[in-house]
Amino acid sequence: MLSPKMIDALNEQINAEMWSAYLYLSMAMNFEDKGMSGVANWFRIQFQEEQAHAEIFMNYINQRGGRVVLKPIAEVPSEWATPLDAFHDTLTHEKKVTSLINNLFAMAEDEKDYATRDRLTWFVAEQVEEEDNAQQLIDKFTMIGNDGMGLYMLNQELGNRVYTAPSILAAD
Ligand code: MG
Repeated sequence: MLSPKMIDALNEQINAEMWSAYLYLSMAMNFEDKGMSGVANWFRIQFQEEQAHAEIFMNYINQRGGRVVLKPIAEVPSEWATPLDAFHDTLTHEKKVTSLINNLFAMAEDEKDYATRDRLTWFVAEQVEEEDNAQQLIDKFTMIGNDGMGLYMLNQELGNRVYTAPSILAAD
């Protein structure tokens, strides 16, 4: 049985994941508008991944007999001049999410809620990936600078990203 405090905290995290989804969808629309459909595609996939994160938490709360309560999603920024700006914001945001996950993990340990701690372990690893992905793209766009051919090719590369649902979601 989840404690009421844990249910509240997990519901907050669902909201944070949905906010992340909305943020990346906003980035996708920004780059769609700027004619960088590959970059837009990358963020669209990111949007789907964040929705999956929210779903994992929803399924978990339901599994444990808790009640999912969906709260309003706060407004997100809508304008990024360059992909580099957007990936800097992505890294900053993902670092924040990492600290949210760490706080939840600490709370689960505190409450001796080992099932929740176990589920959060997946997110701990996922955050390492998220931060690394953002950093790698910051490095790539920094290396390219304003080189048109480089930007063209990287845009193409990001257009190849495809969505795969996390296996943890398929297993639920
Ligand atoms: Mg997430």
